[in-house]
Amino acid sequence: MGYKGMAVRDFIFDSQQGKMDLKGFYSGLSRELTRLNKELNIFVSPPGIGGAESGKKGKLAGLPVSVKDCICVKGMQSAAGSRILEGYVPPFDAASVARLRDEGAVVIGKTNQDEFGFGTFSTNSGFKVPKNPHDTSRSAGGSSGGAAALTAALGYPHIALAESTGGSISCPASFCGVVGLTPTYGLVSRYGLIDYTNSVDKIGAIGKCVEDAVLLLSAIAGHDPKDSTCIDAPAKDYTKHLKQDLKGTRIGVPKEYFKDIDESVSKQVWNAIKRMESQGAVYEETSLPMTKHAISTYYIIACAESSTNLAKFCGMRYGASEPISGNFNEYFSSVRSKYFGKEAKRRVLLGTYARMAGYRDQYYLRAMKARTLIISDFKKAFKRFDVLAAPTMPAVAPKFSEISRMSPVENYMMDILTVAPNLAGIPMVSVPCGTAHNMPVGLHIMADHLQEEKAISAASAVEGME
Ligand code: GLN
Repeated sequence: MGYKGMAVRDFIFDSQQGKMDLKGFYSGLSRELTRLNKELNIFVSPPGIGGAESGKKGKLAGLPVSVKDCICVKGMQSAAGSRILEGYVPPFDAASVARLRDEGAVVIGKTNQDEFGFGTFSTNSGFKVPKNPHDTSRSAGGSSGGAAALTAALGYPHIALAESTGGSISCPASFCGVVGLTPTYGLVSRYGLIDYTNSVDKIGAIGKCVEDAVLLLSAIAGHDPKDSTCIDAPAKDYTKHLKQDLKGTRIGVPKEYFKDIDESVSKQVWNAIKRMESQGAVYEETSLPMTKHAISTYYIIACAESSTNLAKFCGMRYGASEPISGNFNEYFSSVRSKYFGKEAKRRVLLGTYARMAGYRDQYYLRAMKARTLIISDFKKAFKRFDVLAAPTMPAVAPKFSEISRMSPVENYMMDILTVAPNLAGIPMVSVPCGTAHNMPVGLHIMADHLQEEKAISAASAVEGME
């Protein structure tokens, strides 16, 4: 049957009309998911097509969606890529998943990720490590590596629900040559997300094209009383902003985002900026001077918040447990030592230190002040520009052999371009803009809070033009 290569939009249209043989479609899809999972380690638990009865209605009628492992799906193991949560099956759907199901989407599995989102290459997954479909000796990116690898490799119509704290949507999208859309902080409910850094976490979308990511966003955005940080903004139809004229669009190009970048990556990004110019946009170089403090600010805040979030995983309530012995502390530390990975332990130690009495002012509170300055850098820039354009990542997807030689700090430095916009909570789209070293390169388009339409129209104007 001709489902492979079918555009998501066409699939939804046909499915809404009742023209699809959904049963045949899902069984072909199931086989393909099993095959891809063997090859690329895409899913944490074996894929399963839940609730796939035919005749689904809604804006996403019958559409397969994958869900990042840290987002709770009723009846499916949701372990956030961590061994400590292995066996945890939520009795409820995250708000974003419930909205997708309300629109007729069908959940096909929980995608692999770095444990709790701690990483840039998905090599910190407590399970197998996802691989890049363009070159299996390279990383699919992180932490939503499974989501991006699946989106790139799967021929069937599908969209991935993913999550970003410091770049986990943009990075894997860029490495796998697909589109990653991270919305404004608070636009999508975090209810049911196994949190990493509550003040930074955002649920968003990874799709084969800008339109796919936008279709998913339009279904999940909107106020939710169950998440107190969710913005009470009217729901919008973001699909209206696809392929719009760029005439007069003002693009800022932050010079700090081109420092120490792989030359061939930088070249592809400049070509994309020139393409936007040829469509009527005007660009100008600008500066975001706080960029140099972004990594330290981010990692202090992220570790501080995650170290408190991880306290609840102690072998008593969710997931892994052991026969109870010793006092509370002895029991908790034996479970935590056994089931947390190395990076999770590192972050618990760093974060606990940064917020300890006596060090709090020096680290955590200082990082909070630096974060405010990072936000004002962006706010100033958006007084002059509609969008900012930069490379998404400083290099193409590295080889696993290169990653194993990186120190933790070298690893963190790979996030230099994504952590600041994520800390600021602004919307961003990573869109493929060419290749370097035979691997995809991502262009990062950032916009002011709640201006996702500007990032969407700029991204959709450049896509497919490489
Ligand atoms: N690489 C960053 C980190 O390790 C961001 C990951 C994410 O957004 N979850 O924290």
